[in-house]
Amino acid sequence: MYVEGGDLPGLFNSTQFHLHWGNGSATPGSEHAVNGKRYPMELHILNEAGNGSDPVLSVLGIFIEASNDTGKPESWKTLTSYLAQIASAVDRTKYYRYLGSLTTPNCDEGVIWTIFKDPVKVSQDLIDLFSTTVYINQTTNSPLMTNTFRAVQPIYGRIVTSQVAVPKLLAS
Ligand SMILES: [Zn+2]
Repeated sequence: MYVEGGDLPGLFNSTQFHLHWGNGSATPGSEHAVNGKRYPMELHILNEAGNGSDPVLSVLGIFIEASNDTGKPESWKTLTSYLAQIASAVDRTKYYRYLGSLTTPNCDEGVIWTIFKDPVKVSQDLIDLFSTTVYINQTTNSPLMTNTFRAVQPIYGRIVTSQVAVPKLLAS
């Protein structure tokens, strides 16, 4: 898989994806906030530049919003088959763009972020599975893995553009 277009400076090879979540309905787990609004979960698709260009990383972010229906969670098989279709699940012409950093240590800068405006709707019971069934390790007393997100950071001098505009200012 790879991503290109959308004003990205070249082609980026997709290397992995992961999710961030909070703690059930009580704590939203998205790492980005839009006008203060956070979502229950956020999917990240990481992509590396194929030609050694700078920046070298591009991340796609997709919000996951809870729907009111009750799904039939069939563990990871259902989830992964759903994720394979994620690219067509959101309007890829509607997104925010900024130059930021990784959200895990060492939080290196130089990441092109693309955050899609349209969330993907997932039933609340499936969202709750993350904070109620995933453990930090395999010991009997392992705590649940919850709140797997970095706190929203100050924007400093960053310019966040909407739609297809090209960012004009680099992060300091
Ligand atoms: Zn992430």
